[in-house]
Amino acid sequence: MFDSLSDRLTGVFDRLRGRGALNEQDVREAMREVRIALLEADVALPVARKFIDSVTEKAVGQQVLKSVTPGQQVVKIVNDELIEMLGGDDAAPLDLDAKPPVVIMMVGLQGSGKTTSTAKLARLIREKHGKKALMASLDVNRPAAQEQLKVLGEQVDVATLPIIAGQQPVDIASRAMESAKLQSADVLLLDTAGRLHVDDALMAEMKAVHGIASPHEVLLVVDSLTGQDAVNVAQSFNEEIPLTGVILTRMDGDARGGAALSMRAVTGKPIKFAGTGEKLDAIEPFHPSRVANRILG
Ligand code: GDP
Repeated sequence: MFDSLSDRLTGVFDRLRGRGALNEQDVREAMREVRIALLEADVALPVARKFIDSVTEKAVGQQVLKSVTPGQQVVKIVNDELIEMLGGDDAAPLDLDAKPPVVIMMVGLQGSGKTTSTAKLARLIREKHGKKALMASLDVNRPAAQEQLKVLGEQVDVATLPIIAGQQPVDIASRAMESAKLQSADVLLLDTAGRLHVDDALMAEMKAVHGIASPHEVLLVVDSLTGQDAVNVAQSFNEEIPLTGVILTRMDGDARGGAALSMRAVTGKPIKFAGTGEKLDAIEPFHPSRVANRILG
C-alpha cells in the first residue's frame, strides 16, 4: 500500500531538499510531478488538483523561498496538507460512551469485508474497550451469512443473536435491540446485507433498519483495492444514509492508495479503521498523521 506513491514522492522531495535555493519555477515543477504521482495512485482528479493548488499557494510565498531550508519547508507543507486530505488531526475512532446499547450499523457491498470487519470491531470493543458487545446479522439474502457471523462470534468470544429462519431484517434489528437491552450489552453491532451493486432495494432496506435502530455509528465498509470505485460506492451510500465513518479493508494488499487519499475529500466522512489482513485482530484505527508519515517516508 502506498509503496509506489511513496517512492515517487520521496524522489521528488529528495531532489528539492538537495538544492540550496529554490525559486517559484522549481516549486511548480515539483508540484507537477506530485500531481502525476497522485493521479497514478488513483486519487480523484478534483482532489489531486485542490491538493496541488493549496500546497503551491503556500509554498511559493516569500517566507518559504527565502528561508534557509526551502526544500524542507515545502515538504512540511506537503505533509500538513496530506494529513488534512486524509482527515485532519487524529481523533478517537469510536465514541462508545453514549447511552447503552450503543448501536453500530455496518453497511457495504458484498465481498467488501463487512462481516469480517464486524467481528474484528466486536473483538476490539471487548478486548480494548472492555465492553460487552452483541452482534446480529441482518443478511437474509446471502445463504449462510448469519451462520458466518455466528462462527466468527465464537472465534472472537462475542455473543451473536440466535438465528430465527425466515425473519426479515427490520424484525431482526428490533429483536437484537431488545436482546441487547436484556443482556445489558454496551454495544450492539448490526451486520446488514450486502449486494453486488448499490441498488434501490438495498438502500430501502438500509433506511428501514436505520429508522428502527437509530444507530450511533453507521460505518461503511469498502475495499481499498477497488480504488476510485470505493469512493464512488461511498458517495452513493452517503447520499442515502447518514454515514458516520468508513472502514477501508485490504490495506494489507497492494492498493495504490487512491481510495484512502480521496475518501475524506469526496465524502466528507472520516476513515475510522483500516483492515490489514484476514485474521480477526487485523484492524487498526486510521491515523492520518501516521499514514502521511508512511507516505512521505
Ligand atoms: P462481506 O461479504 O462484505 O461480509 O465480506 P467478508 O467479511 O465475508 O469478507 C470477504 C473476504 O475478504 C474474506 O475472505 C475475508 O477474510 C477477507 N477480508 C476482509 N477484510 C480483509 C482485510 O482487511 N484484508 C484481507 N487481506 N482480507 C480481508
